[in-house]
Amino acid sequence: MKIIDGKAVSLKVKDELKEQTKRLAQEQGFVPCLAVIIVGEDPASQVYVSNKKKACEYIGYKSLGFELPESTTQQELLELIEKLNNDDTVDGILCQLPLPKHIDEETILNAIDYDKDVDAFHPTNVGKIMIGNYHMLPCTPAGVMELIDSTGVSLEGKNAVVIGRSNIVGKPMSMLLLHRNATVTICHSRTANLKEICANADILVAAVGKAGFVTEDMVKEGAIVIDVGINRNAQGKLCGDVDFERVKEKAGAITPVPGGCGPMTIAMLMKNTYNAAVHRRNVIDK
Ligand code: NDP
Repeated sequence: MKIIDGKAVSLKVKDELKEQTKRLAQEQGFVPCLAVIIVGEDPASQVYVSNKKKACEYIGYKSLGFELPESTTQQELLELIEKLNNDDTVDGILCQLPLPKHIDEETILNAIDYDKDVDAFHPTNVGKIMIGNYHMLPCTPAGVMELIDSTGVSLEGKNAVVIGRSNIVGKPMSMLLLHRNATVTICHSRTANLKEICANADILVAAVGKAGFVTEDMVKEGAIVIDVGINRNAQGKLCGDVDFERVKEKAGAITPVPGGCGPMTIAMLMKNTYNAAVHRRNVIDK
C-alpha cells in the first residue's frame, strides 16, 4: 500500500509554476496577477485566503487582496468585480465562498469574466469542462487527477466510482475521469447498493463530507482511494470521508487527510492563474 503524499505532489506543481513564472518574467516582462476577494470575517475563509496569498508569493505571482466588510452590498461587490474584469493587469479573480447571506453567490460567480475565473465556476467554464476543451481546471478534481497520476496507474478502461455529485467536486470529477477513458459511476444519497458499487471500483473518490463514511468493506483490494472530504471527528480532529486506518490495509494507494487533496486544490488554482495569464496575454506557452 502506498500513501499518496499530497504535499509533495503539490510542491512539485508549484515548483514547476515557479520556474515557468521566472521564464515569463524574463522573456515576456510580466508575472501573473491574482485578485482575491473576501467578504466578511469567516475564520475558515480567512485561512484559505491567506494560504492562497502565500502560494502566490511562493511562486512569484502578484496578488491583490480585497478584504471587504460583512455589510458590503451585492452592488458594491459587483462594481469591484467589474473593475477587476476591466483591469488588464489582473489575470485571475477569485471570490472566496461562502458569501454573506444577502449576496447571491450565483450572480457574483456569473459576473466574473470567464477568462479570469480561476475557480472555473462560471457556467462557460463548466460547459467547457463538460466538452473537454478547457484551460481553466476545476481545482479540486484536477488535483485529484494529479494524485492519481502520481501513482503511475493508467485510468483507461478502469472502473472509477465517485461518491458525491456536487457542482464543485463530484460532477466535474466524473467528467475528468471520463475524459481519461475510465468507466465512471456517480453515487449520491439516493444511490441503491452503494457498498457493492464502491467495492467494484478500481479508483474510488469520496466527496461526501461525512467522517468515516467509506469503510473497509466498500473497498476493493488494491484500489486507489482518494479522500476529498474535510471533516472533524468526534475528538475534533481533522479527518476525511474514509476510515483511513482500516482502508489503508486494503487499498493499493490512498490519500491521507490532512495532507492529501487539500494542498492540491491550491496548487491547481495557481496553475489556472498561470493558464489564465498566458491565455489572456496571448503568450505561446513553451
Ligand atoms: P456537498 O455537500 O455539496 O455534496 C456532498 C455529496 O455527497 C452530495 O452529492 C450528496 O448526495 C452526497 N452524499 C451525502 N450523503 C450521502 C450518502 N449517505 N450516500 C451517498 N452520497 C451521499 O459537498 P462538496 O462536494 O462541496 O464537498 C464534499 C466534501 O469535500 C466536504 O467534506 C468538503 O469539505 C470537501 N471539500 C474538500 C476540498 C479540498 O480542497 N480537499 C474542496 C471542496 C470540498 P446528494 O446530492 O444526493 O445530496
